[in-house]
Order: sequence, then structure tokens, then C-alpha cells
Amino acid sequence: SGTLYVVATPIGNLEDITQRALRVLAEADLIACEDTRHTRKLLAHYRIERPTISYHEHNERERAEQIADRIAAGEQVALVADAGTPAISDPGYRLVRECLARGLKVVPVPGPAAFVAALVASGLPTDQFFFGGFLPAKSHARRARLMEVRALAATLIFYEAPHRLAASLADARAILGERQAAVARELTKLHEEIARGSLSELAQRFSREKTRGEIVLVIDRAEAATEEELSRHDDLAAALERKIS
Ligand code: SAM
Repeated sequence: SGTLYVVATPIGNLEDITQRALRVLAEADLIACEDTRHTRKLLAHYRIERPTISYHEHNERERAEQIADRIAAGEQVALVADAGTPAISDPGYRLVRECLARGLKVVPVPGPAAFVAALVASGLPTDQFFFGGFLPAKSHARRARLMEVRALAATLIFYEAPHRLAASLADARAILGERQAAVARELTKLHEEIARGSLSELAQRFSREKTRGEIVLVIDRAEAATEEELSRHDDLAAALERKIS
């Protein structure tokens, strides 16, 4: 039988594609695309001419079965999203599951993912992080989601739409307290910008400015998790213990 290749493509800059991704795409019997017109531009740029099929949010269920049928019949299928790594806040998970359920081979072809690029340039700790995908659109649900991750000893990363950025920063400030953060916009593109500062500063700035483009929000972990705070907690615990005994 064939193979499903999960192929990462650029998040803006067309140069951000691996040699292996280009070879896998060029050799594929079929390229499953989130948006075939969008991916055709990438393929045209690299002079790759292969058959494409759409695989998106609204046809995922039936298409996963059809594509898996073709892989079972021996075809090499490459799955791509409009940008970055498929199945990361994008369709793909269902197809991977379908292939694995049928004992078909699934091979990742790694490359760009917006949250990794944002994290490593944010200046915030990279040792542990939590990727939360898109925050809920409604403030009530968003605040509830932020409550769930408030105590995590990890840098928090979210995808956000430009017209919700100011509201999300304000909600983050309200629920998480004051923390350092970064707003990474239009990564790898012409207007790339990474704004760093406290949640209050960023909330203020983006409530004044109209924001456009694609955005990743990166937020520092809970204060109590910092070394200094932890040792202060240890001191307190030790003092308490002395008092008790
Ligand atoms: N699969 C993609 C990945 O691997 O990152 C994510 C797809 S998701 C539908 C699109 C969201 O990713 C955008 O709304 C934005 O939050 C983030 N994103 C994608 N490209 C970006 C870029 N160049 N700069 C900043 N954020 C980006």
C-alpha cells in the first residue's frame, strides 16, 4: 500500500520549504490541499504539476475515507494545509487517524509552524510551553479557557485573529494577571513584527491601533513559577515548619 505524507509548507515566505517537502510533492500521486487554488500557487512557483484534491473542514469526514482508499490501493498522497504544518489548527487529524486505523503508513515531513517561530523569537522561556490553538471568540468562553491554563508552569501560546487581539490581551491581563508577552505578526512576511512587553502595555497599544495580518500571542508563565517565587515559597514553608515543630 501507499503512504500518507504530512507535509509542512511555508507560513508566508516561499523559501521556507524543505528540499524533502519539494521532492515528496513532486513525486506524489495526489496532493490533498486545504484549498487547491492556494496550493497551486506554491506548486507553480516550484514548477510542480501533480493532481490535487480538496481536503478541508467541510468535507473532512468523507474525504478522509476516499483518500485513505487511494492510499490503501497503493498511492502516495501528500497532505498540505494553506500554511505551515497540516493538522496544527488545520485539517489533517481525521485523515491521519483514518490511515492509522487501516494500518496505513503515515510519514511526517516537518517544516514551518507559526507557533514555534513565534515562541523562539518571543524571548520567553522555551523549556516548557503550552500551545492552545485559537482562543474562543466570545469573551466568556475565552476567559474560561484562560482560567484553565492560568497555573501552568509553561509559556502559553495562542493563535488569534487581528480583530480580537485587543480584547484577548485585555482578557489575558484580567485572568492571568500582569505577565510579559509577545505579539508576533506576519511572521516571515514583508510586515513581520514582534511586539514584546507586559500584557497591560500590549493591551493598551493594540486597543489604540487597528491591527491586521496573522497573529500569534505568546504569554509568560504564572509568576509563582519563577525561580525567585519558588524559593520564596520554600522559605515560607520552612519558616512555617519551624513554627509548627
Ligand atoms: N497550520 C498552521 C501552522 O502550522 O502554524 C496554522 C494554521 S491556522 C488556520 C492560521 C493561524 O496561524 C493564523 O490565524 C495565525 O494565528 C497563525 N499564523 C499562520 N501564519 C502566520 C504568520 N506568518 N505569522 C503569524 N501567525 C501566523
